[in-house]
Amino acid sequence: MRLLVANGRAVTEDGIVDCDLLLADGRVEAWLDRGAAVAADERVDASGLLVFPGFIDPHVHSRDPGNTHKETFHHSTLGALCGGTTTVLEMPNAVPAVTDLATFEERRAAHEQKAWTDFGLWGMALGPANLHQIAPMHEAGAVAVKFFWGYALDRETKGLIYNFAAAPPDSLLLPPENGEVLELFREVARYGGLLAAHCEDRHVLATSAERLGHPITTYEDLLLARPAVAEATSIAVGAQFSLATGCRFHVVHMASEAGTRVVREARAAGAAVTAETCPQYLTLTDADAERLGPAIKVYPPVRGQSDQDALWAGLADGTIGSVGSDHAPHLVAEKLRGFEDAPAGGLGVETLAPLMVDGMVRGRITPQRLASVLSGSTARLYGLWPRKGTLRPGADADLTLVDPEGRTEVTNERMHALNPVTTWDGWTLRGRVVASLLGGTVAMRDGEPVGERRGRFVAASHPVRTHA
Ligand SMILES: [Zn+2]
Repeated sequence: MRLLVANGRAVTEDGIVDCDLLLADGRVEAWLDRGAAVAADERVDASGLLVFPGFIDPHVHSRDPGNTHKETFHHSTLGALCGGTTTVLEMPNAVPAVTDLATFEERRAAHEQKAWTDFGLWGMALGPANLHQIAPMHEAGAVAVKFFWGYALDRETKGLIYNFAAAPPDSLLLPPENGEVLELFREVARYGGLLAAHCEDRHVLATSAERLGHPITTYEDLLLARPAVAEATSIAVGAQFSLATGCRFHVVHMASEAGTRVVREARAAGAAVTAETCPQYLTLTDADAERLGPAIKVYPPVRGQSDQDALWAGLADGTIGSVGSDHAPHLVAEKLRGFEDAPAGGLGVETLAPLMVDGMVRGRITPQRLASVLSGSTARLYGLWPRKGTLRPGADADLTLVDPEGRTEVTNERMHALNPVTTWDGWTLRGRVVASLLGGTVAMRDGEPVGERRGRFVAASHPVRTHA
């Protein structure tokens, strides 16, 4: 099967090249001069379109298994595909959580039956409770391990429990103390793996909530109870642990100017620290809270305009190397419980690419940087390069085709999620994701799937180190 993507403009991290792309047997075969004579079984006309390496969403919580009334892997990967993403990396905190090799293999087998996009899997790092599982999960192809820093876990299900003061202590795995966290960094470093963390210092959060002195009723209260210094503090500790151990440390869903500054300084000091941000932090501010109500609630919270501006600047200067959706659906009724009681999180996987393309058309990020933060740099970070993240010959022929002159109407009706209510309902975005190719054939056109479901598991290969 040979397919020619003709007349497009291929976007790489280094530049934009007018060319035809020949795809064969699921891989990129060659870059050709436009109009070069070549035999192909099928032809896709990409006139006027930017051709990106398929976009990767590294931060997806599909709630499957365990909370499939909120979302399923079928729905999240279908949404991803329809939004222009061709690979998702699934977070480990479904129920049961992926804390060992056996669960990793089970999850892989179950998701292979449901995937509309290619997918990788995260493992979960608990600290001392599963230190011996870090290596086996990496060897099985885990893209990274996630440490939910400061959260207690249900001993049985490894489900996350934020407000654990009220829970019976016997049922809990308490958050590891920093000395134990340092041991975790050492262990991940031994395998050249990637340790990612939710960064909000729990003691800073606890004291901040105490200072507030009353339940959270407004968004202003919520920001006072979860200040940016909580994020910056965790990142600073993680950066020191990274420097001390050589462990690659990744800050997921970074939301603040203060956090961005700490990451920039840590990188300048030579720490192997990387960061991700999300469209909610790049497109919303606290000024949207009145309009959106608790629907805006995510952890860490969406903050002010200066934070948003700092995150865009961090993307531009390389401080932030990856953008993920943090797709974390809940029932609509749950999100209506008010700022104190509504769970944190919302839809994102289907709007990740459209919102970032809008940012590109508005000039907030260049096409080359977009190719990096949604594809190339993300693929390198998670051990998927050069199979994913590039249009080089030999790479998987995953492509996302974008019309910069188009428009995208975001509506709940068009979402493919199980509970299709998006924060961006009613937004008109500049630019349009027109089509995606997965493994060398068209898999999505105009926001709807084409053909059968055919996502595959992708194993990460990290530079496994032999240790002295
Ligand atoms: Zn998340």
